[in-house]
Amino acid sequence: MPTIIAHSVFAVSLAHVFKHTSLPLRFWVLALGCSMLPDIDVIGFSLGVKYGEFWGHRGFSHSLTFALATSLLVVLLAFYQEQYRPLRLRLVVFFFLVTASHGLFDSMTNGGLGIAFFSPFDDARYFLPLRPIQVSPIGLRDFLEWGGWRVLSNEFKWIVLPSLALLLVSIGVRYWLMVRRRA
Ligand SMILES: [Zn+2]
Repeated sequence: MPTIIAHSVFAVSLAHVFKHTSLPLRFWVLALGCSMLPDIDVIGFSLGVKYGEFWGHRGFSHSLTFALATSLLVVLLAFYQEQYRPLRLRLVVFFFLVTASHGLFDSMTNGGLGIAFFSPFDDARYFLPLRPIQVSPIGLRDFLEWGGWRVLSNEFKWIVLPSLALLLVSIGVRYWLMVRRRA
């Protein structure tokens, strides 16, 4: 996996694209949470679940079905109030994308098993054809011993910089729309 730092930076940038003035702070907090949630499957390692199994790392919790279910649940539980009704479709799309982005980035890493994108319908593991992202060791000790700096600088290039570019574009477009509305 890329580190949670990389997943978070992308989550914030994408959240900026989808944000709305009436959305509360929990929109941002849940965005960060959803971008990291798929790695909850690492708990399975200590429970004896094998990497390649359904509940194994990069298995069902990294799938598109899981992303959609997470998104629906988040919107249902956190944005059920009437005032969010006009924003619900936008929120469902956003939370789906931010959760699914986790698996997408994982599938561009150069190590581990692939991602079970189509689980539970197809348990095969997939990588994208382009895999420039240095896989990050799981656990802080492994991370430090293994040369975490190399991982971070690689992620900066392949995830953080493109995410910041997305953020800049989003800021630019929003600013331009605001100026146009006032004109
Ligand atoms: Zn992951």
